[in-house]
Amino acid sequence: MEEKIWGLPAAAGGSPVRETKIYYGHQYLDEADYQAVLDVLKSDALTCGPKIGELEERLCSITGAKHAVSVSNGTAALHIACLAAGVGPGDEVITTPITFAASANCALYCGARPVFADIDDKTYNIDPKSVEQCVTEKTKAVVAVDYTGQSTDLKALRKICDKYGLILITDGAHSIGTCYDGKATGSIADMTTFSFHPVKTVTAGEGGAVMTNSDELYKKLVLFGRHGITRNPDWMENTPEGPWYYEQIELGYNYRMTDIQAALLLSQLDKLEMFKARRKEIVKCYNEAFSQMPQITVQEEIPESDTTRHLYILRIRPEALTIDRKGFFEALAAENICCNVHYIPTYYFPYYQKLGYQKGLCPKAEKLYEEIISLPLYYGMSDADVEDVIKAVGKIASYYAK
Ligand SMILES: *Cc1c(COP(=O)(O)O)cnc(C)c1O
Repeated sequence: MEEKIWGLPAAAGGSPVRETKIYYGHQYLDEADYQAVLDVLKSDALTCGPKIGELEERLCSITGAKHAVSVSNGTAALHIACLAAGVGPGDEVITTPITFAASANCALYCGARPVFADIDDKTYNIDPKSVEQCVTEKTKAVVAVDYTGQSTDLKALRKICDKYGLILITDGAHSIGTCYDGKATGSIADMTTFSFHPVKTVTAGEGGAVMTNSDELYKKLVLFGRHGITRNPDWMENTPEGPWYYEQIELGYNYRMTDIQAALLLSQLDKLEMFKARRKEIVKCYNEAFSQMPQITVQEEIPESDTTRHLYILRIRPEALTIDRKGFFEALAAENICCNVHYIPTYYFPYYQKLGYQKGLCPKAEKLYEEIISLPLYYGMSDADVEDVIKAVGKIASYYAK
């Protein structure tokens, strides 16, 4: 057993490493953000004004993708991506269980069945070998999630999708700012979805987008996200009857983003490089500290991924500890380090259980779930905050070491 250099954990009667609570994530807004929103409120356009076009152009220039379609949230982005991929009743969509429920729900929205592939137990991302084993004649698309911000193995996934004629969708809710093989997330898969929820790297309050290089998919995305209605004469089936004329040519949804949200997001994107740099710095500190602790496993990365990390996953080694994940989580809370767990495997939820999914489907994902805790990781963390988290983890790991 290691020397107890950190003192008695708060959970075991000692005093906590810090007096105030720190949470796993927090948005960062500044004066420029407030002003951007105020400017829109004082303008005439509240929704679908000039900020939407400006935002979509900016997303293209940041990622290198040809097209961007902004929407009301990341879940709507996944829904229209599945619709544009032609996913419908009777189809299957392969995804990972270690994600937010929306990555699988989007298939259900279209009447299709989500099929869960297992993860790679080193990177925690979807394992292309397991994806290939899940392919049937019914498979239409793969929704690969850049879990924690790390890119999936896109070369291997592309190969499988080409071999079986599948559409490759990346759920990039965690990975804006990440590059794979030098190319930005958003420019590689057939479609990439983003979320701009406040816990993500940049926020619009609520917001999302789909990126694509395909003109054909772009048209479908626009239609599915905007009522299926168009004012574009090139897309209409009839000749416009007058300047008022528009047509509904698809059954779409109202998933539009407002100018208020777009303005906030544009201002947030001005800070993306700053957010990226700080997140990378914190991850480096954590990795250096935790790789010295035999009770902790550090998440591995594929060399192709230059990752902007949205989540930092502390993976405990239960065989090296006298407490389990719940005990470790509670001990961190007693130190005032308020964590979270990302994620409960999607098919564990009662809704999915009722659809017939059973535990045991993805053993590596299920094992991961038993061992993970999401530590605080956000731009506004001070060096002292980072040190507190490291100190608390070290204190608990050494005190409860086997
Ligand atoms: C946040 C998130 C979503 C959903 O995004 P919303 O904007 O909250 O709808 C989808 N997938 C993943 C992996 C996420 O983390």
